[in-house]
Amino acid sequence: MNILIANDDGVFAPGIQALAEALKPLGRVVVVAPESERSGYSSALTLDRPLRPIQIAPDIWSVNGTPADCVYLSMNGMFDFEFDLVVSGINSGANLGDDVLYSGTVGAAFEGRLMKHPAIAVSLAGPNVRTYEHPADYAQAAQWVHDFIRSGLPQVPPRHILNINIPDVEQIQGVQLTYQGRRLQSKPITSHVDPRGRQVYWIGLAGEAVTDPKKSQQNLQSDFFAIANGCISITPIQMDATNYEVLTTLARQFHAN
Ligand SMILES: [Mg+2]
Repeated sequence: MNILIANDDGVFAPGIQALAEALKPLGRVVVVAPESERSGYSSALTLDRPLRPIQIAPDIWSVNGTPADCVYLSMNGMFDFEFDLVVSGINSGANLGDDVLYSGTVGAAFEGRLMKHPAIAVSLAGPNVRTYEHPADYAQAAQWVHDFIRSGLPQVPPRHILNINIPDVEQIQGVQLTYQGRRLQSKPITSHVDPRGRQVYWIGLAGEAVTDPKKSQQNLQSDFFAIANGCISITPIQMDATNYEVLTTLARQFHAN
């Protein structure tokens, strides 16, 4: 199996290194990742300049582009062989609920949406800021991803991917299949004056999670719920964002006028 690994934290991030190491027993593992952090780049492609991949070690490439660029190049002619699977991550920090819209980790996985196996976005859910003395445990999460792939990947329809969040806890409590939860409005932007007297703003933190009582009644749990309970969350997500129920209602209104 040829496995392509990308991320949005950059080629030197500890999460991607742990993931590449853990997946090596499964086949040829090729890392193609941004030269520096590109979190929040979603599925952005670079169209206004050329991209120049640099091989920094055997099967490890650094690209002056976005997470999606890395997968796009890798699957469209940068290599003379084909990949069987795309795994993106392991991201530093969760990608839950509305985060999916902005996440470069998820964006890179979506670029692999037309492959035989479902592309996987993997994030480590825990405090974003880690120190040298208190590193995040990417190895445990990476080992779980290895076991998950080796046990046989599930079938999902075309253009669907798996968004997986793994809690950064000592003892993982289990695995839950979840729906994509929702966040409240983001925290306010912070405003500052730069050293040259200009007004600048900094985009702040994401909003809190909200639960959907209707889904709870149907016994469905959100990705937030799984993580809050120390469980791994697996959410199937899709490219097609059309709401067919609303489409039908709109069509009825449109034709009535
Ligand atoms: Mg990131």
